[in-house]
Amino acid sequence: LFFKETYSPLSSDEIIAKEKANMDNKRFKHCVRVSETSRKLAKLNNYDEDKAALAGFVHDYAKQVPKEEYRKVIKTQGFDQDLLNWNRSIWHGIVGTYFIKRDLKITDKEILTAVDRHTTGDVKMTTLDKIVFMADFIEPGRDFPGVDEARKITFANLDDGVGFQLAHTLSYLIKDRNKIYPRTFKAYNVWSTKKK
Ligand code: GDP
Ligand code: FE
Ligand code: FE
Ligand code: FE
Repeated sequence: LFFKETYSPLSSDEIIAKEKANMDNKRFKHCVRVSETSRKLAKLNNYDEDKAALAGFVHDYAKQVPKEEYRKVIKTQGFDQDLLNWNRSIWHGIVGTYFIKRDLKITDKEILTAVDRHTTGDVKMTTLDKIVFMADFIEPGRDFPGVDEARKITFANLDDGVGFQLAHTLSYLIKDRNKIYPRTFKAYNVWSTKKK
């Protein structure tokens, strides 16, 4: 595992060590697989493989940060106060960018935006946003009904993968009577519906 030292003053080893210290081993291994899958999707879509690998690696950096720390950061660091009505499922992408900047010293806007959008998607998505969003969904450790179809669709066409994931996630959330974050819903309307 090695990350080109272009996007942070920290060394590759330091980034890996901080990531490992911030989560349990299961989550760490998921991040390694998302990094590898991001690299593969980058190659297929003519995107910078090293940049995609780093974005994929750090995407869940803040997934296990304590809830109280999140609440404090949302209140004091200029985030939308509506976020206080949500939970770590939503926070670890959008607010996770704060911890990645603070701890991993990554300031690259494209990387931070890809992390911000990796859970919900968004109305507008860059190639890197789509790569990380899809790598998270189809990495080899994922095992849910439909994952093989998701992989097939995504490797054939990244945008179709985004549409598939948003429809899949939304129907799963609704089936379980979960609250839908408005951005998830807006993204679904753009990427998953027929009149596109
Ligand atoms: P992970 O961090 O690798 O587990 O994956 P994600 O960051 O993609 O998703 C984290 C969790 O957020 C998953 O359980 C998703 O189903 C959930 N999630 C995604 N969108 C929404 C939403 O709009 N509302 C709610 N309540 N949960 C969501
Ligand atoms: Fe996540
Ligand atoms: Fe995701
Ligand atoms: Fe993830």
